[in-house]
Amino acid sequence: KERTFIAVKPDGVQRGLVSDIIGRFERRGYKLVGLKLLVPSKALANEHYADLSSKPFFKGLVDYMTNGKAPVVGMVWEGPSVIKQGRVMLGATDPRAAGPGTIRGDYCLSIGRNICHGSDSAESAEKEINLWFGGKGEI
Ligand code: ATP
Repeated sequence: KERTFIAVKPDGVQRGLVSDIIGRFERRGYKLVGLKLLVPSKALANEHYADLSSKPFFKGLVDYMTNGKAPVVGMVWEGPSVIKQGRVMLGATDPRAAGPGTIRGDYCLSIGRNICHGSDSAESAEKEINLWFGGKGEI
């Protein structure tokens, strides 16, 4: 069964968009199999965004995810093509390119405050589920 990691980032939590985002996945028919509210450690955020460590915005991104002004909602969703369809439902990374009807296309305009995260491949889904949930056994 296919699984993906979806997160509501601190800006999405702070703006009260958690129920909307969960509702979209539920109504689509996907199954919620993991859910936690947490302020991630620097180590967790660094590892989650390891691929971006050379980018100029990396430090700001990690600080934003971990400063505790609002927590992150980490989720594991299961169902047919959920990795690809989850990304479609989030919309383009840069909200200026995200279409209407997508989460980012409906609610934001700034790439630095784009509300949500979704695994981009089977490999990242496995890595991220293990990282945020400590192994599939815990779900
Ligand atoms: P995500 O992993 O959040 O779903 P993505 O995989 O589509 O996004 P990446 O290029 O991996 O896109 O970027 C990860 C995150 O880094 C983005 O969601 C965004 O929050 C942040 N980011 C990317 N580019 C920029 C930028 N130019 N300025 C600020 N933040 C950025």
